[in-house]
Amino acid sequence: MANGESGSVENMRTQMDRAREYAEVDENVFTRMQHPERTLKVSVPVLMDDGEERVFEGYRCQFDGGRGPYKGGVRYHPSVTMDEVTALAGWMSWKNALVDLPYGGAKGGVSCDPKELSRDELKRLTRRYTEGIRRMIGPQIDIPAPDMNTNPQVMAWMMDTYSVYEGYTVPQVVTGKPVEIGGTPGRVEATGRGVSIVTEQLFEHLDEAIDDATVAIQGFGNVGAWAARLLARRGANVVAASDVSGGLYDPDGLDVIGLAEYVEEGGDLAEYGDPDATEIANDALLALDVDVVIPAAIANVITTEVAENLEAGVVVEAANGPTTPGADDVLAERDIPVVPDILANAGGVTVSYLEWVQNTQEYAWTLEQVNAELERRLVSAFDETVETYTDRGIPDLRTAAYAIAIDRCGRAHSYRGLFP
Ligand code: NAD
Repeated sequence: MANGESGSVENMRTQMDRAREYAEVDENVFTRMQHPERTLKVSVPVLMDDGEERVFEGYRCQFDGGRGPYKGGVRYHPSVTMDEVTALAGWMSWKNALVDLPYGGAKGGVSCDPKELSRDELKRLTRRYTEGIRRMIGPQIDIPAPDMNTNPQVMAWMMDTYSVYEGYTVPQVVTGKPVEIGGTPGRVEATGRGVSIVTEQLFEHLDEAIDDATVAIQGFGNVGAWAARLLARRGANVVAASDVSGGLYDPDGLDVIGLAEYVEEGGDLAEYGDPDATEIANDALLALDVDVVIPAAIANVITTEVAENLEAGVVVEAANGPTTPGADDVLAERDIPVVPDILANAGGVTVSYLEWVQNTQEYAWTLEQVNAELERRLVSAFDETVETYTDRGIPDLRTAAYAIAIDRCGRAHSYRGLFP
């Protein structure tokens, strides 16, 4: 595929290559870091409610383990493929290094459409997938977490399945659990909170005020809806939002709290029926003349063509991999800053780390402690990224963030050496 509009793994390697010249990394180590350490593909047979057995495909990829146990979410979506899971695992590796968590990177997923599954089918699918990847995960080995279409309930089923095999309760094998079984306060909203924190930091850096800044958000699930609520709390005006069914646009601002509650109850945005809002398609939302556009759904939505027509002042990547390398070039040329996914959506894994620490210490923190630690870590990663971007004369924030991550992972591999 031309113009950088290619497969997700290829995009991730291009992003790494661009940072290579600004990083201080041994050439052999860098080559090693471009390859996933291992990927497991599992068949997931599920007994459907009508008595039929269906076989789904599931994956778990452990990309880079130089800095510690592997960590990354599990996604249920029809787009899940080995290529997508591998790229997501790579992005997790660089994200964890950028925010300086003692983790490597992993990702998993099952190719399915959860909207078509009953709760019981979803539970059986989750338990069988967990059994399939059980050989690969563990509290000191690889710790899954929620991602698209997975939530605290799914994490509870994963934790239970793993624990049944171990013969005792192992809360720290997954993060993003319900608080009642070892989850942490603040995890559900952590990724959206992180998005709002870095957006505010970017505005401060640009010497602009977030108050009344107009925002358009593509994807109104966990991350998009929480980012909307928390940005609105910081004074921003969310004028457009969309989900897979379609979107809504009101230049005077949407009722994000009402919308979020409606979506949490299972509603589709296209059927919300806001008399003040007009319908807007997902691609038209990305072309709105707003201060901030936030892709918070799937990968590769900001293509070269979309980037050429983008009217927003800045892009904050809540989703993983929403911008292709070709689009990155266009946006850099047009001087439109992009806060890269590995920084913008790192709030989720940061609070997952805090959950794992609490589980390991068997000691629970308050919401205030969790939020303060999240903010401290993200502001520090943001400052470091901007400093690296400025000091090393790097063309864009993504390349700066990658340079930091590659330096850190590279140093870990150099100290540990190559086995045997
Ligand atoms: P979610 O399942 O809660 O919500 C996904 C949203 O995207 C929904 O509104 C859905 O309707 C919409 N969507 C799906 N396909 C779409 C399409 N083709 N076009 C437009 N909208 C579409 O998922 P989430 O947890 O909010 O994750 C969203 C993104 O954020 C993903 O890229 C995910 O990898 C990333 N992310 C999530 C977390 C987390 O903690 N949940 C952490 C880091 C990154």
